[in-house]
Amino acid sequence: MAAPTLPDRARVVVIGGGVIGTSVLYHLAEAGWTDVVLLERDQLTSGTTWHAAGLMVTFGSTSETSTRLRQYTRDLYSRLEAETGLATGLRQVGFIEVAADAGRLEEYRRVSAFNRLMGIDVQEISPREVGELFPLAKTDDLLAGFYVADDGRVNPVDVTMSMAKGARMRGARIIEGCPVTGVLTAKGAVTGVTTPFGDIEAEYVVNCAGMWARQLGEQAGVTIPNQAAEHYYLLTEPIEGVSKDWPVLEDPGRHGYYREEGDGLMIGLFEPVCAPWHVDRIPEEFSFGELPPDWDRMGPYLERAMSRVPVTADVGIRKFFCGPESFTPDLAPVVGEAPELRNYFVAAGLNSIGILTGGGMGRAMAHWIMTGQPDIDITGMNIDRLHPYQLNPEYRATRTVESLGMVYQCHFPGRSMQTARGVKRSPIHDRLVEQRAYFRDVSGWEGADWFAPEGVEPVVEELSWGRQNWWPHWEAEHHAARNDVILMDMSFMAKFLVQGRDAGTLLDTLSANAVNGDSGQITYTQWLNTAGTLEADLTVTKLDDDRFWVVASDTAHRHVLTRMQRHVGDGNAFITDVTGGYAQLNVQGPRSRELMQRLTSADMSNEAFPFRAAREIDLGYVRALCIRITYLGELGYELYVPSEMAMHAYERIAEAGRELGLRHAGLKALASLRMEKGYRDFGHDIDNTDTVLEAGLGFAVALDKPWGFIGRDAVVAQKAAGPLRKRLVQVLVTDPEPQLFHAEPVLRDGVALGYVRAASYGFTLGGAVGLAMIEADIPIDQEWLDSGTWTVDIGGRQFPAVASLRPLYDPRNERIRA
Ligand SMILES: Cc1cc2nc3c(=O)[nH]c(=O)nc-3n(C[C@H](O)[C@H](O)[C@H](O)COP(=O)(O)OP(=O)(O)OC[C@H]3O[C@@H](n4cnc5c(N)ncnc54)[C@H](O)[C@@H]3O)c2cc1C
Repeated sequence: MAAPTLPDRARVVVIGGGVIGTSVLYHLAEAGWTDVVLLERDQLTSGTTWHAAGLMVTFGSTSETSTRLRQYTRDLYSRLEAETGLATGLRQVGFIEVAADAGRLEEYRRVSAFNRLMGIDVQEISPREVGELFPLAKTDDLLAGFYVADDGRVNPVDVTMSMAKGARMRGARIIEGCPVTGVLTAKGAVTGVTTPFGDIEAEYVVNCAGMWARQLGEQAGVTIPNQAAEHYYLLTEPIEGVSKDWPVLEDPGRHGYYREEGDGLMIGLFEPVCAPWHVDRIPEEFSFGELPPDWDRMGPYLERAMSRVPVTADVGIRKFFCGPESFTPDLAPVVGEAPELRNYFVAAGLNSIGILTGGGMGRAMAHWIMTGQPDIDITGMNIDRLHPYQLNPEYRATRTVESLGMVYQCHFPGRSMQTARGVKRSPIHDRLVEQRAYFRDVSGWEGADWFAPEGVEPVVEELSWGRQNWWPHWEAEHHAARNDVILMDMSFMAKFLVQGRDAGTLLDTLSANAVNGDSGQITYTQWLNTAGTLEADLTVTKLDDDRFWVVASDTAHRHVLTRMQRHVGDGNAFITDVTGGYAQLNVQGPRSRELMQRLTSADMSNEAFPFRAAREIDLGYVRALCIRITYLGELGYELYVPSEMAMHAYERIAEAGRELGLRHAGLKALASLRMEKGYRDFGHDIDNTDTVLEAGLGFAVALDKPWGFIGRDAVVAQKAAGPLRKRLVQVLVTDPEPQLFHAEPVLRDGVALGYVRAASYGFTLGGAVGLAMIEADIPIDQEWLDSGTWTVDIGGRQFPAVASLRPLYDPRNERIRA
């Protein structure tokens, strides 16, 4: 191939010509950014895209983001041919997911309810109907099928070529045979790329290098912990009777999906225990590559998959294909602007759904690059949720086995990742072990979820949609917090010390609330962007005029840190991440003051230590930062203790607490307690697409601050536009039996207006409780909520509910101020 001629500069350089890079390029060009160039190491599709099975399925996710990406993608693929003249091979032959066990039946019924709310026409069909649509399938053991007639399949190469043509037609350039060997940077931002054929100056660079994305990212110090793994499908010889018009069939219980291919069948596999590929380094020259299939390892899975369509065991095998695809630690893609480098964007780690989300992913990325803001909820897939330690070879090798294996598992609620555990531990971890904590993975930390009583092993006996073995322990912890006193370790919270003459100005500019008032006070606040939607939800404590203590949730750790770093400019403000340096011990509940007073010489009375006060206090031999605040709706205190003294502090609390019946409580209790009080959790019930007013957090906005804050104009404009038609409401199911988890549709007078974003069980309120974003065509206020009949759709069954804008538990905040 002759050396390509490169432009000296381009506004955007996209690296990688798979489905994702091509889609980003297409959407940038479509939106009018035509000074854009895509550099492909070899040829378009030569990485993973060329051999994808091409399933195009909208069914199956309870994430609105993922579902919208899929829907957009399917629509795009159906209209591209008219625009570019190149067909995508989309054939809407239908898709059926089958359930052969009770867990999956419940899962797909819940998914179906949510998918229907999103506009997907899902029908639950009988085993007989499954057999009619896919006559060779064995159906006698099935409980049901879930059928979407508009879903089907595409040709991944054709999709990519069609988008490439669409991009070129608008002036974008695609240069093949041109590997990017590095990126150019200046002052913390990307300024271009280097190639063997010269450099290209660029304002933005987008790493869409598929399984190569990690090593390319690492060169620039960017964390993209995706990992390639073997991924398989088998092609049979022709089978009599197979029709091209049959739907795609999927049976996760038998590890397989099935579709027509060359008059025979393709059987695709997601095995429970996979094999990572090239943990060290993906070979640079691997193009249109295949891997030798591991028959021994895959044999048992293949056999089980084939048993769903028994005739496949009697026909010849045309090919057992193995190719690499990249997977991420949590099975969500890696998307967005790198925290390490401004204007370096990433869209990689597609976890085997790159074709069926590729169109939407490209559109979302283009929007984000062009406007500086994503227009979908990206909290679950933002690159800044990931941490450098996740790049470690051992971590990737271990975790990938679990994440690929999760694809076809039944997605029972509350399941924690089981691999690569024990990485981050609280200083009092061993004591929590002694107290029989059941731990779960909290952004790499061991978080105590619940505690088993004496004589009981802290194990999850069986995952299920119902009440699991730990239910009574959780309930007891919940009641202890409401009635007595509990101790909760939340050392995983992200903590930052922000110091300097301009620290207060920096934080006040970022915060919608007034955080730079009196010293010794904590303030709950949101950080907004200029569009007025949420960037973070956190607390800022003013310790002194030039010393602030910023605390955010574990998932927002790097987002919050990056946002501070990007706004500090030339100001005299120094940000130190002290997350590992301090334990956070929570003493909460109506008897917490009594307990605290036994531990310290400080006056803990309501007058001397009111709600929101922050003081350094003595606690045994320790000095701790004690803040009177609560995230579970009771009188309570957060104690920040230097890690090396945390054990001493813990021992003192535990000892003094013994007489008061102190109970250890875990994160399950935190979830149920905060949900009863309607406290928000960014990334769960509120996200980057919500405004602070829609999220019901207007009380935490100080519009009258003299210096204003980022996003103020947008808040003012939304206020001026009149009463809101989109609001977060608390929903309580009045029947005490069912459970809410996430994504259950919420209906007023039989009309679905939104869905539950996050939920728990309210032991004090007496039923499942959640927070739902509701949209109506008239203003939403309590009177309107009270005048309707509310129900929640749980797996297709309607349950009566109460909807409220004010917290159903302690609406006047009497308990927290007591
Ligand atoms: C067996 C199998 C079946 C699958 N079935 C489906 C399916 O049915 N549906 C579905 O949605 N998904 C499926 N997938 C997943 C899908 O193929 C991927 O998610 C998708 O192709 C990923 O696209 P990508 O653009 O991120 O990566 P790639 O297609 O790998 O593209 C990355 C590109 O970057 C280039 N590149 C790398 N480094 C550089 C560099 N330094 N400079 C320039 N270029 C570079 C590579 O050459 C490559 O072309 C399947 C995958 C496999 C393996």
